Amino acid sequence: MIYSALIGLGFDLCAIVICIIIMCNYYSVKRKHTRTEMLFQTFMWSSLFAAVMGVLSLVFNQFYPEETPLWLRYMARMLMVISVHGVGIVFMIYAVAESYENRNLPKSVFWLSIILIVADAISIAIYGCTYVMDIQLSAATYPAIINVMFVCHYFALTATAVYMLINRRFLRVRKQVNILFFIVFNLVATIVQFYTSIQISDFAFAVSVMLIYATLRRPEDELEPVTGAFNGKALKDFLAIQLHSGRSVELFVCEIKNMPVINSVLGHVGGEAVLKELAERLSKITGKVNYLYCIDGSKFAVLFNDADEYKHFKGGYIKAIGKKFFVSGTIVPVDMFACLIRFPEVGGKISDVDSIMKYYRDNSAGGGIIEASKEAVMSIERSEKVGYAVQKALENNGFEVYYQPIYEIKTRKFSGCEALVRLNDPELGFISPNEFIPLAEKDGTIVDIGRQVVSSVCRFIGEDKPQRYGVRYIDINLSIIQCLHPDIIEELRNILGEYGVPVGMITFEITETASSKEYKRLHSNLEALHASGYKLSLDDFGTGFSSMEFLINFPFDVVKLDKSLVTAYMDEPKYETILQHYMPMLHGLGVKIVAEGVETMEMVRTLDKLGCDYLQGYYFSRPVSRGDYLEFIRVKNA
Ligand code: C2E
Ligand code: CA
Ligand code: CA
Repeated sequence: MIYSALIGLGFDLCAIVICIIIMCNYYSVKRKHTRTEMLFQTFMWSSLFAAVMGVLSLVFNQFYPEETPLWLRYMARMLMVISVHGVGIVFMIYAVAESYENRNLPKSVFWLSIILIVADAISIAIYGCTYVMDIQLSAATYPAIINVMFVCHYFALTATAVYMLINRRFLRVRKQVNILFFIVFNLVATIVQFYTSIQISDFAFAVSVMLIYATLRRPEDELEPVTGAFNGKALKDFLAIQLHSGRSVELFVCEIKNMPVINSVLGHVGGEAVLKELAERLSKITGKVNYLYCIDGSKFAVLFNDADEYKHFKGGYIKAIGKKFFVSGTIVPVDMFACLIRFPEVGGKISDVDSIMKYYRDNSAGGGIIEASKEAVMSIERSEKVGYAVQKALENNGFEVYYQPIYEIKTRKFSGCEALVRLNDPELGFISPNEFIPLAEKDGTIVDIGRQVVSSVCRFIGEDKPQRYGVRYIDINLSIIQCLHPDIIEELRNILGEYGVPVGMITFEITETASSKEYKRLHSNLEALHASGYKLSLDDFGTGFSSMEFLINFPFDVVKLDKSLVTAYMDEPKYETILQHYMPMLHGLGVKIVAEGVETMEMVRTLDKLGCDYLQGYYFSRPVSRGDYLEFIRVKNA
């Protein structure tokens, strides 16, 4: 008897040592309190507790039965029994949680645990009452109720195995092996204990703890090295769990807007110091239940499960960023941008965060915390879809060019036209250039679109020869981004050359939107274009920007009065005075004048009287396809 007790004691002591070593390692690193981590911790602690109780029970009951008071022996024995059975149930819940990582635990595991706990509690209570302590030796006879306890334990093990089998596709192989090991080793342990009275269950638990620890996600993989906060991957995983379980969460994200400037002035060491300082201030106010995440090395995020937590944080945040930032004793101006995104009402997935942040950074002025709206997300989604449609059209030559005739008052002929790009996406339908051109200007795809439009126009001129019906020029809209392109002249020369189009047939319409920073380059490129023989037309004249200055400084041949100006002229007497003064001035500068948006006969008469040289608008024709346009001029210019 004492021999088997000695072996049991050896196993239990080993179990304690293993558990303590693992715990020291486990708690030495910052960890997240996810459901599985918490359950693993419970498993670890209950295994340690079981082993300690195993040792105490052996010492009190087997080695020093006479020296130990009866109540202590009894208690140690009872706690040992309870803890062994408890570990089985805890492990079962842990194993289920592992396979249900992103989902709610099944209700069955809850009810099963309750049933097992109740059955165990009843049998342990009966066991406790019927159990007779032998003063000299160890525990006395095993009452029959012990079998119920074994049945319960086996039942927990079997249930664990069944859950594992059902959910095995959600479990990595290593985790499956761990669970299987726990089950098999426990079965073996109880059999060994039954036949030899050697207790090795606690050792089996400790080895399981060790194996699971080895397969836990490494915390270093979830930490951002500079700030010590959790990283974007950790946020993504955590958010996925929250969303999967149907919980709504509020994600607060902030970023240092002027980080590139800080990095370039202070260097990366200085930049990191600012980030660390901000991380420290934020982690102080995130509280114990929330974590601070650092995404992409410049954004910080905090997840909140309830509105009160966020309200509390918000106050702290405003105070925290209100304080000055210092690096090596120098004040660093830190310009923050912050946004609150509600999941799942507003955001649907973590990748929305970047686009939402970008959207508000581009579309809103001032600081404070912006609450993202569903409309913004929808507009972002629409932009993404349109961007994708543009990309597809570029790859498949999906853009079409329509032509809108331009009427020349002097000759009474449609001597020119404006080429207008059209995009008809199979899924989104017709997309207005007013929608996709600004997007394409933002991401630079306008350069490729422009290339296709110029090619298309040149092909039209080369193949259909509209000159034979009296067309002398075709207007092509050129975005400022295209004008600033360094190889524009070379590229145009190649395209025009390919189709044998004379340079003089092309007029480029340019809208004045350039910032003063680009003024110089724009100037030299436009001068070069003009010198190469292209005509230049100032589009949308009369809308907002300082068109007059632009007109004086750049070599324009034509000015296009904007639709809004033309319409206002028809309706408002004040505009009449303005335009009447503009006309001689524009003619004095040597430019021809085109009026856009001419929709009625009355407008034709008025604009003619005013002194316009050309008219363009729905009154004459809408923009039409290449074939229709050719037919139009063939008939009208005959
Ligand atoms: P825009 O250059 O001012 O072009 C004139 C716009 O006014 C065209 O719209 C045309 O269909 C429309 N329009 C013409 N006559 C009338 C009229 O009588 N009444 C009214 N209400 N509208 C009239 P569209 O084709 O939708 O083009 C919109 C804008 O997209 C263009 O404005 C231009 O800025 C841009 N765009 C179109 N094609 C291109 C292109 O190939 N390259 C670039 N960079 N921009 C383009
Ligand atoms: Ca235009
Ligand atoms: Ca225009």
